[in-house]
Formats: sequence, structure tokens, C-alpha cells
Amino acid sequence: MKWNESVLSLKPYQPGRTVDEVKKQLGLTEITKLASNENPYGSSELTKQALSEWNQSFALYPDGYATVLRSALANLYNLRETQLIFGNGSDEIIQIISKSLLEPGKNTVMPTPSFPQYKHNAVLQQAESREVSLVDGAHDLNEMLNKVDEHTSVVWLCSPNNPTGLYINHEDLITFLDQVPSNVLVVLDEAYYEYATAEDYPDTLALLDKYTNIIILRTFSKIYGLAGFRVGYGIASEEIISKIEPAREPFNVNSIGMHVAARALEDQQFIDECKKKNTEGLEQYYRFCKESNLNYFPSQGNFILIDFGIDSDEVFQYLLTKGYIVRSGKALGFPTSIRITVGTKAQNDNLIQFMKEFIKTPV
Ligand SMILES: *Cc1c(COP(=O)(O)O)cnc(C)c1O
Repeated sequence: MKWNESVLSLKPYQPGRTVDEVKKQLGLTEITKLASNENPYGSSELTKQALSEWNQSFALYPDGYATVLRSALANLYNLRETQLIFGNGSDEIIQIISKSLLEPGKNTVMPTPSFPQYKHNAVLQQAESREVSLVDGAHDLNEMLNKVDEHTSVVWLCSPNNPTGLYINHEDLITFLDQVPSNVLVVLDEAYYEYATAEDYPDTLALLDKYTNIIILRTFSKIYGLAGFRVGYGIASEEIISKIEPAREPFNVNSIGMHVAARALEDQQFIDECKKKNTEGLEQYYRFCKESNLNYFPSQGNFILIDFGIDSDEVFQYLLTKGYIVRSGKALGFPTSIRITVGTKAQNDNLIQFMKEFIKTPV
């Protein structure tokens, strides 16, 4: 076969072991997965209602314009409907942007460690990736600017950043946007936007009028608790949306996912509650880290990266035997840290107890 070199150079995504596999293997009856930043409270009751009321034929293609969901989001955020694009998760919007703007001879600037799909798609498009190391877990915006040249077509910003949880504040973002050439698309990946509590976390929607070269990515997979349905979206100027639309498959988002997502938007109380409990959960971890003298990054997301100062796989394995699946930092660029999704209060308490035991256990 005459495979593309770009594809041969990539490894397929390694899914974590499923809860059932781990149960079987370790003979455990209960497993708590705090590895993929999923919402421990599930999703709004309204989403369950929406699903049970679904009565359209499975034989029909979805609405390729996402009319209902589009109108609901435009209303909620006071946007024009033409400022939105929908994807099979925001993962797919990353792919659509990459297909539209990256090709051999062009380059793209991104932070590292960060969300792996920016680089993955750049490789597929055979564009050059210019990776700029985080400094103390945060974007090095000055260095990212230095890397931009006349061949740069996309800059990726992830805020709050996965896996560190740090964010780009309003002032720093503005300073950055003022200096990026207006013919470079700046992607603001805000998958965890709804969790952010910092006073100076930027209101990026308000920047759309002034900065016509930005696109904001958001998703129903995180705080809305609908990762299984795969619905994400991008928000930008009409001009940008109309340019990338042709790179989207006509029926990329499934009918039921769109229907449920639209209903989820009606329950903002659920979102507020999840946000509040998440903030309290983060406090549990901060206390633990301080008591145990462990380094961590304060997080604006629903996860926390904690440095144990030893091979992260060891911490991971220990917690696995206790029935907790977390994410080892090794594959995330932090080989001595683990990334934990903030769970319910009881889950956090239990996990913290096990981490305390682990620290006391002589190696
Ligand atoms: C989870 C995540 C996404 C992708 O979410 P989808 O499920 O594809 O919508 C995008 N960016 C970051 C930083 C994420 O953590």
C-alpha cells in the first residue's frame, strides 16, 4: 500500500482501559474513573427527559444545519446564528480548522504540553508544528509570538490549559491578540470555560467584534456531561465560519446528540451547581497538596495536576489497585505528575485518603 508518510508517522489514539476491563483484571467490584475530565454528576435531568421524548425516525439523516441547537446557542450567548459551526465534539472543529488552514509549507504555533489534537492534525496536514514550552504550567505568549512568521496560519491557545489547568488572563490575551498578525487565525480552546472562576478570566465572546481573527471552541463534553453524544462548537466571525464550513462533513453531528444538547442549555442551574461543587472539590485537593508538601497547579478546570516527584506510573498503578483510575502524567508531558478529574466530595475524600497512604508507603 502507498500510505501517506504523515499517517505512518502517527500512532492511533490509545484509549484507556474500560472500567469493566479494570474490574475484571483486578477483581474489584467498584471502580471510579477520574481520568477523562468527565462530569461526575452526569448531565441535567432535562437531558434524560429530552432523550425519552425523542420520537424521530432513526432512518432520517440529521439536520445538517443544526437549526434547533444553533438557535438555542445563538440566543443564550447573543450571537448571530451564522457565527457558529458544529462538530462531532470540538475535536472535529480542530480537524476542520486544520484542514482549512494547514498544508505543507505552512506552520502552526502551539503550547506544549497541551491538548494533543493540535499537533496530531498539523502532522496529518503535513504542516510544521512550532511547539512552545509552557513556563510554570502556563502559556509562554511572548515566545509564541516570536514563533509566528509569514508562513504561520494558525495559533492554538488552550485556556484553561489541559493538562495544567492554568488560564490566560484578560490582559495577557489582549496584549497577545494586539500583536498577532490579523491574517493568522487564533484558536481559543475553551473546553473548560464553564468551570473557570477567576475574576480576570477573559470574556472572549466580547472580543469577537474587535478581533476578527479568533475562533472560540467550546463543548458539551465537559461540564454539560454529554461526552458520549459528541457535540462541540466553534464561535467566530461570519467570515471565518463561512470559510471553514466547506471542510465540515454535511451530517457530522448526530440527531439525538444535538437534540439533547439543546435541551441541556435550558438547565443553567445544573451548570452553576456543577461549577460550585467543582470549585469545592479543587479546594479539597489544594488542602491535601499543601498538607503533603506536593506541588500542583491551581486549576480553572475540573482537573488538577499533582506532582509526586516520582515516576507517575507508580502512583497511577497504586491508585488503580484501590479502584481509582486517574491519568498518569507520563503521556501528558509531566512524567512525575498525575492528572485527576475532580470527582464528587466522597470520591475526592476517598482518593485523597489513598494518596496519603501511598505517600506513607515506603518504596
Ligand atoms: C476534552 C477536550 C476537548 C475535546 O472535547 P470534545 O469531546 O471533542 O468536544 C478539546 N479541547 C480540550 C482542551 C479538551 O480537554
